[in-house]
Amino acid sequence: MTMLKTRFAPSPTGNLHLGGARTALINYIVSKKSENSKFYLRIEDTDHERSKQKYTDNITNSLKWLGLNWDEDIQVQSKRLSRHQEIAKELLKKKRAFKCICSEEKIAYQRKLIRENKNLSKKICTECKNDNYIQTKNEDFVVRLDVPDEGNLNIKDTIQGDVSVANLELDDFILLRKDQSPTYMLSVVVDDHDLGINYIIRGDDHFINTFRQYYIYKFMNWDLPQYAHIPLIHGEDGSKLSKRHGAVNILDLKNNGYLKEAIINNLILLGWSNNNDKSETIELKEIIENFEISNLSKSSSIFSFDKLDFFNNFYLRKESGIEEFINFCKNDLELNKFLEKDNSKMKNIFNVYKKDIKKLSDLNNSIKIYFDENYKINKTEKLTSEFNSIFKEFLKIIGEINNWNRDNIQNVINDFLKNNEIKFPILGKPIRFLLINSYQGPSISDIFVILGKKDTIDRLNQYRGK
Ligand code: GLU
Repeated sequence: MTMLKTRFAPSPTGNLHLGGARTALINYIVSKKSENSKFYLRIEDTDHERSKQKYTDNITNSLKWLGLNWDEDIQVQSKRLSRHQEIAKELLKKKRAFKCICSEEKIAYQRKLIRENKNLSKKICTECKNDNYIQTKNEDFVVRLDVPDEGNLNIKDTIQGDVSVANLELDDFILLRKDQSPTYMLSVVVDDHDLGINYIIRGDDHFINTFRQYYIYKFMNWDLPQYAHIPLIHGEDGSKLSKRHGAVNILDLKNNGYLKEAIINNLILLGWSNNNDKSETIELKEIIENFEISNLSKSSSIFSFDKLDFFNNFYLRKESGIEEFINFCKNDLELNKFLEKDNSKMKNIFNVYKKDIKKLSDLNNSIKIYFDENYKINKTEKLTSEFNSIFKEFLKIIGEINNWNRDNIQNVINDFLKNNEIKFPILGKPIRFLLINSYQGPSISDIFVILGKKDTIDRLNQYRGK
């Protein structure tokens, strides 16, 4: 198998969101399919104004949390500017690039002609390259790539297939700005080449850039990598996935108690299905075995939070869910205090509630109620006279339970209902309400176990019946 070198190359101009994480995930998986292949991380920080260290930290922390560990050191694009400039100079020397001094007005006019279809070619500057004076200038110029106008360019993409673009459609884009700083278009190619990247997997919003970047490879006589442009993710309303659709930032999802297994499972099934198995749940190890990038759908996929909730609930209910819960609590000041106070109570809460929660933060309010030392029953509720007539007796009976465990409690409750010939809801619903101020929730025997005998009886004692 060929040794593949893939990379994830985010610009640190925002936090890592689901779309970026999916691109990183696919690069990671492809690299893990063969032993010698590599997955690199490159921070593309050439946009000084918008690039921030906090975003780099967010991206690296998110990737680490997801378990998408890269090989070798992180590459930082801004540290290689002189190498990018060197290539621009070489392209100038080869006469594959040229110096351009067109004024803003001239460029704006040229753009207008292109917009209005008065110029078929997208080239911005046609004159500077033929002017000897300009080509021997030492300052005050930008460097443009001399992209041809004639013919078509055909590129084979693993996902998009064979796509042909007329060279007229490609512009003579800038390689070096007036201050001689390299543009993304140049830096990305130089860095990918120098790193030996032979498989570029990225969002299909970059597909058109591939046709432009092709000419740098060609003019430098560098091998063109293989490409796979993956369709972007959309929200359920069909628009590009963004903040409007909910928490799409990976660390926000983490802080809300989503598990990485659920996020990875959800992301990989956008546009791909695991044929070997009818069930949708699949973990990273199996994904790596079964995933084939060529089977990824060409059309954009819809991200659904309901689906993410479904997967998260599935992974929370697994044996490892309890560990995830403990780690989640350790990272939260308030929850960690509860953990230190009564670890087994916290575990009981998780085990009782896990089947009904979508994410770990759904437990926060319940936990607070169970640990509330100043718990007060919400007095506005009126309980039925049928309940009031049996309440004192019930309190006495449960006070006599010596071995306070779920089975014993359940038996005592069942016997009580039988002896008094009452249906469960007459007793159960108000008791639940008195203990946690809610008619909805787990079985009352589970609530009894979580609270323990003393708290259960203390809370019920607040109600005197009427
Ligand atoms: N830095 C680019 C971005 O964040 C990606 C470049 C690439 O993958 O080629 O959109």
